[in-house]
Amino acid sequence: MTDLWIGTSWKMNKTLDEARAWTTGLVDALGDSAPAGIQPFVIPSFTATTTVRALLGQDSPVLLGVQNAHWEDAGAWTGEVSVPQAKDAGAQLVEIGHSERREHFGETVETTRLKVAAALRHGLTPLLCIGEDAQVKAEGGSSAFILEQAAGALDGLDAAELSRVVIAYEPIWAIGEKGRPATVEELREPFAALAEAYGDRVAGLLYGGSVNLDNAADLLGIEHVTGLFVGRTAWKLEDYLELLRIAEAHRAG
Ligand code: PEP
Repeated sequence: MTDLWIGTSWKMNKTLDEARAWTTGLVDALGDSAPAGIQPFVIPSFTATTTVRALLGQDSPVLLGVQNAHWEDAGAWTGEVSVPQAKDAGAQLVEIGHSERREHFGETVETTRLKVAAALRHGLTPLLCIGEDAQVKAEGGSSAFILEQAAGALDGLDAAELSRVVIAYEPIWAIGEKGRPATVEELREPFAALAEAYGDRVAGLLYGGSVNLDNAADLLGIEHVTGLFVGRTAWKLEDYLELLRIAEAHRAG
């Protein structure tokens, strides 16, 4: 049985003191091992990568990621961070194609493809985010849209490479302050479509978007969902720990 991935991106939040407090609390709570069958992960801002790595230690059961990375290894790309630099700072995961990056920073299907390839080239796990907006959903095009985003980003990968990719389905209408949680019913078809296309061939099919302590168990119960990618709820450590407990209980059946 594949692990349930339960993780968070902090987006543009947390000072170093706040990052230290969250991470120290997590290390204290977890000790040397994650709950059985659970793969925790945390994706801080770049500024906190080395701090969080130092607190987690080298053999942590918690994977550490960055929220973006450039596709080139080095060069004249002011303001960018490369995958080798992220790896050097202790990252194991690269989040790619979050809808906020697509909307505000010109991320395209082609740049997601280049970034997935760069992450794989350097031995990091690409966490590919896909998701449609409210209009596409209203027109009934959700599954076709996300399959196209995924196919574009994963184009050309062989089976071994694909098996290292994690996909997070994050409908834009469901994420962030303005989002509303997707219902279990709304998620069945997109996850069935993703499972048919990628299912066991990828490392995980995660849901993200207004996950909270009340809906997490139901979301984990959706067929083909193998984890949760969480924003606001997980920024408070106690609630992240509670999400891990919910996932552990789900795993235990
Ligand atoms: C997100 O923006 O990727 C996200 C999952 O955020 P939230 O959980 O806060 O909706």
